[in-house]
This record gives sequence, C-alpha cells and structure tokens, in this order.
Amino acid sequence: MNILLHICCGPCTIYPLKVLRSAGHDILGLFYNPNIHPYAEYQRRLDTLKTYAREESLELLIAKGYPVERYFRGVAYKEEDRCGHCYAERLRYAFSEAQERGMDALTTTLLYSRYQKHDLIVAIAESLSAEYGIPFFYHDFREGWQEGIRLSKERAMYRQNYCGCIYSERERFCKD
Ligand code: SF4
Repeated sequence: MNILLHICCGPCTIYPLKVLRSAGHDILGLFYNPNIHPYAEYQRRLDTLKTYAREESLELLIAKGYPVERYFRGVAYKEEDRCGHCYAERLRYAFSEAQERGMDALTTTLLYSRYQKHDLIVAIAESLSAEYGIPFFYHDFREGWQEGIRLSKERAMYRQNYCGCIYSERERFCKD
C-alpha cells in the first residue's frame, strides 16, 4: 500500500519505517507538528529528520509555516488535557493530506513512543479515519522501542528530552 506516515521526529521514525518497508509498503513521510516549542527546537528536530530522510531515501512532505496559534488556541483553559487536542490537530492535517493525495492508508510515529497516550491516539485516528474515508494502519510500534533507541544512538541523531510543547518542557525541567 501507499501509506502516509505522520512523523513527529527522526528518532521515532526509525523503527516504524523499518516495519512498514519490510512489509512491502511505499511510505511518504509528513512532518506537521506545531506542538513543538520553541521554534529553535522545532527546527532542530526537523533538521534531524531531514538528514535521516535523505539517508534513507524517504520522501518527505513538510507542512508550510509554524502555526503555534492553532496549538495554543486548542489547548487554552484545558492544558491538563492538552494531548488529545495535540494528536487531533496533527492527525487531522495528516488525514487531509492523505485524502488529497489518494493514499491507501495513514499511520503515525506517535504509535512508537512509550511516553504517548497510545489508546487515545488510536481512538482519535480511528475517528478521523471514518471521517476522511482513509484507512488507519494500526501497528503497535512500541515493540521496537529499545531497537529504535539503539539505532538512533548509533546514528548519533539528536534525541530530544521532552515531548514537544512548552508545558511538557516545564514538566521535564521545572521542579518547583
Ligand atoms: S505533552 Fe506532547 S503530546 Fe501532549 S500536548 Fe504536549 S507535545 Fe502534545
């Protein structure tokens, strides 16, 4: 199948890409992540992904602009439950691209991370799949967590130490 792979960052792409290509699928990557703050961090993650994609001959779509307003307007006053909006914002964009490009299915590297709310991602993706008429390709990529980490270290890739938004950065570093 021609599968659109929504990508959150380079290190999280390694294992899913390996699984998908091993199964014979053609993969088109998509980077749309206005949840990554600040911009310098966004750029660093994107640059890391671009290098990886070039080395792996992975075709990559990069969303234009950096619409952080869309992220912040969606989570305002419900910051504690922000991840649902964050997933939906990114996956809606990805499903829309998949529909426009006539892709056979869509999946996301968010399914690789042990730190993400896996079941919530699946529920949102299934709902969007029905809405857009594009099959959601589910695979529990968390099985390759350690392998992905090992391979990203071998490549000396930049590995971020917080999820993405400024709230997750505070949770990671602020001890007050
Ligand atoms: S913690 Fe991560 S998934 Fe949740 S809102 Fe922030 S960037 Fe998005």
